[in-house]
Amino acid sequence: MRIDIITIFPEMFEGPFGHSIIKRAQNKGLVEIHLHQLRDFTSDKHRKVDDYAFSGGAGMVMMIEPVAKAIEHLTAQRKYDEIIYTSPDGELLDQPMANRLSTYGNLLILCGHYKGIDERIREHFITKEISIGNYVLSGGELAAAVIVDSVVRLIPGVLGNEESALSDSFQDNLVSPPVYTRPREFRGWKVPDILLSGNEKLIKEWKHEQAVKRTRERRPGMDV
Ligand code: SAH
Repeated sequence: MRIDIITIFPEMFEGPFGHSIIKRAQNKGLVEIHLHQLRDFTSDKHRKVDDYAFSGGAGMVMMIEPVAKAIEHLTAQRKYDEIIYTSPDGELLDQPMANRLSTYGNLLILCGHYKGIDERIREHFITKEISIGNYVLSGGELAAAVIVDSVVRLIPGVLGNEESALSDSFQDNLVSPPVYTRPREFRGWKVPDILLSGNEKLIKEWKHEQAVKRTRERRPGMDV
């Protein structure tokens, strides 16, 4: 998979993409992530990419021209399965959406800033708008990093067997059961006996029951 990201803060991705599973996925050649500085696409001599909103009001708006040029520069080179804009009013990111995105070959993500981007970009270029939750961030970079993380870990070969995404929360419409590691007892707090019993069948049943119980308690809207 190839992911292109248009942003005015490419450095913000160094942390999230430079470690752990995403880094490993890139090293293994399973994903290529390319960051593009939006300011490289402006004809303004001060590399300005924002301007006042028509009709006034507080806050600046990302200008149409540099964004259009950046998107066209990339779409001239390859076809994208989705051209994504990170936006608080977009479709809420969830596991089924991450699953779907992980099957694609080329994704382009545009990170907004200020009061957002000129609406005409959304109308004419964007094919999908994604929100990571009902709250407002200062920019789309953290949202893009969350989207990329949730998607890349699902690409076949990225996670090892023990980390398999199939046993994670939401994959089967259930949240995960509780997990424990050594020691068996800490300050008198014990690991449930069943997990130490060695009885695979009972352990599997227990995990399923716990997952169902947790899902009902914590995500009552989810269908179990
Ligand atoms: N005025 C806008 C918010 C702009 S926030 C509004 O009220 O809807 C600046 C940028 O941060 C947005 O353009 C978007 O790219 C990003 N952003 C903010 N919150 C987000 C969220 N919950 N999910 C995804 N992107 C978000």
